[in-house]
Amino acid sequence: MNDIKNTDCLIRTENISKFFEQKTGLFNSKKEIVRAVENINIHILKGETVGLVGESGCGKTTLGRTILRLIDPTNGNIFFDGNNITSISGKELRKLRRNMQIIFQDPYSSLNPRFKVKHIIAEGLYNFKNELKLDNISIDKIVSEILEKTGLSKDASTKYPHQFSGGQRQRIGIGRAIALNPKFIVCDEPLSALDVSIKSQILNLLHELKKEYKLSYLFISHDLKITASISDRIYIMYLGRIIEELPSSQLFKNPFHPYTKALISAVPEIDSDKRRKRILLEGDVPSPVSIPSGCPFHPRCLKAMEICKSKTPKYLKKGDNHFVACWLYDQNSDSRHKTQDSSKS
Ligand code: SF4
Repeated sequence: MNDIKNTDCLIRTENISKFFEQKTGLFNSKKEIVRAVENINIHILKGETVGLVGESGCGKTTLGRTILRLIDPTNGNIFFDGNNITSISGKELRKLRRNMQIIFQDPYSSLNPRFKVKHIIAEGLYNFKNELKLDNISIDKIVSEILEKTGLSKDASTKYPHQFSGGQRQRIGIGRAIALNPKFIVCDEPLSALDVSIKSQILNLLHELKKEYKLSYLFISHDLKITASISDRIYIMYLGRIIEELPSSQLFKNPFHPYTKALISAVPEIDSDKRRKRILLEGDVPSPVSIPSGCPFHPRCLKAMEICKSKTPKYLKKGDNHFVACWLYDQNSDSRHKTQDSSKS
């Protein structure tokens, strides 16, 4: 991050954390803190697509929504185009909304079933009608252009969401996200609810729109192959923390972190020559209420050493845009530390 000019950077987070309080026990008498996201430092350059990958429940969506200021961070700072947006509100936040949009995971529940497509796509345009000096005719024109760009027919504007397939609904959601000509879009698992045949169409559409609108994406997914195909760089997340960052070209060739390697080993391959030896992780993902000490991955890591149980690994630079948080790659760590179970490899 130190090598990157502020002017190139669209989004930057500085030690962002998001904790939730949850009540448990008899009569909800006990309070627990869910540490959904902790001390996250990421950046997204102008025109860049950054992937965010990890298992379900690791905090990907919480991080995406925190960056968009849909939820407030507990600690840390968020910068958009060089401006600190962590505590802005009112008019300033409203202005920011024009530049930051989201495409939701579920194209069925994310569209209001009582609105016609025209109103869904134009909702933001109506909200900013005065600021953008738009009248109803110009809004209709923009909606028609968006329908064309997203591959929907003109008569789609007078129909309701239930009259469309899942892929078409996601196109409507994408149309809504680009209507205000934003700079940044969080794509929150936009393909996970779609059929395989539709996924590549939507992926191509996102790619084309990115070029045309000069967009930056944060592409959230648990699918490594899809994420690598659309992203320039990828962050790997585990239990609310970033544990590796690498160029997407390196994801399958040169991953470092044992967790990244385990995720990659689980990617299905049709070609038997390309199949990797599966790394089976033991146990479940620990609860974000009681995050393990040291390296949070140590209870499941096949390479864990004594130091991993008590000391948090530093985030080390291991190459161009390649960083990893793992004691295995820290030259200064004590080489006498043994793996938890030497029979594991
Ligand atoms: Fe495994 Fe230790 Fe590296 Fe964590 S720091 S991933 S426990 S080897």
